[in-house]
Amino acid sequence: MPATETEATAEARRYLEVCNACRYCEGYCAVFPAMALRREFSAGDLQHLANLCHGCKGCYQSCQYSPPHAFGINIPSTFASIRQESYEQYAWPPAMGAVFRRNGTVVSLVAALGIALALLLTAAIQDPGVLYGAHTGAGAFYRVIPWWLMVALAGGSFGFALLALTMGAIGYWRGTGSKPGPVVAPVAETTVDILTLRNLGGGGHGCNDLDEGFSTHRRWSHQALMYGFLLCFAATSVATLYDHFLHLEAPYSFWSIPVQLGTWGGVLMMLGVAGLTWVKVVTDPVPVAKHVAGGEFALLALLFLVAATGLLLLALRHTGAMGVLLAIHLGLVLSLFITLPYSKMVHGLYRGLALFRSAREKRTMTAAAAD
Ligand code: SF4
Ligand code: SF4
Repeated sequence: MPATETEATAEARRYLEVCNACRYCEGYCAVFPAMALRREFSAGDLQHLANLCHGCKGCYQSCQYSPPHAFGINIPSTFASIRQESYEQYAWPPAMGAVFRRNGTVVSLVAALGIALALLLTAAIQDPGVLYGAHTGAGAFYRVIPWWLMVALAGGSFGFALLALTMGAIGYWRGTGSKPGPVVAPVAETTVDILTLRNLGGGGHGCNDLDEGFSTHRRWSHQALMYGFLLCFAATSVATLYDHFLHLEAPYSFWSIPVQLGTWGGVLMMLGVAGLTWVKVVTDPVPVAKHVAGGEFALLALLFLVAATGLLLLALRHTGAMGVLLAIHLGLVLSLFITLPYSKMVHGLYRGLALFRSAREKRTMTAAAAD
């Protein structure tokens, strides 16, 4: 389905026609060089540029035409609205797109239901003596929540999330009108951009995270959260390999690879969430799309709770609190997996695709100009 024209795309088109004549912000991020390759902007182009934008607010703070000027140029806010519209348009199954309209409420409700479901299931299948008892040694977790139940809940929800994300990515790629081109060099450039979050560097001097002053708060906080999340994912993957191939059952010792990866990952996630929440609370509210804030805060809270309960479980795993904590932690992880395709988490996927398309367009255009 092609990208949809909306009020926000009409507004962005008006802004970019001015920007294309001005070009003052060319060195700030990938958006302006990608914009300069075009004379006209289809709705697909605007969704692509909006997903390329990292919302650093650099162009807003430096723009002589931003409010209260009559042109009222406010790219970060309008692009945030277009991004949200693209998440909604390409959600799979399509009926789930409506979830993005009340994202804060939905993410919070799913988190609460996830915890309740895990606690109720555990209480229903387990004797209270087992649930509230202290367990130690290999297989202690599985004595409270059977291995098959953990695999069924986590594997089923994560498998569905992967399918929904893949379908969403295909819809986005087609809907925004992406064209064929080189792969290897654009993939390498995109990977570096994601790993370093280059576009939150403001061309080297930092971004306007909070106000007109430059800072790297958001960049560092986002990196802490992203690398923390990846370390936790690596911890789960290594634990799965231990279980299946080495027949070593959790819980593992504090100095084991999965526990070390999970511990540092959890700490980084909590630091990243705290930093991003602080930036969102104190930032200048004008270049922000207020209607998407609820979903963003709810997702940050969910990520914080996943990390915090994981660390608490590690600290109290040899006590009688382990059973309830394990159920709560698994309920939160389940909620995170279920909401992956229907929360702000999808920005990573769409932004990655936008960065890839931008890196590819640069090469295609340069090659065409050289011919
Ligand atoms: S945002 Fe303002 S300063 Fe930047 S390119 Fe557009 S018109 Fe020029
Ligand atoms: S808000 Fe930042 S990332 Fe987005 S277009 Fe403006 S300068 Fe680029």
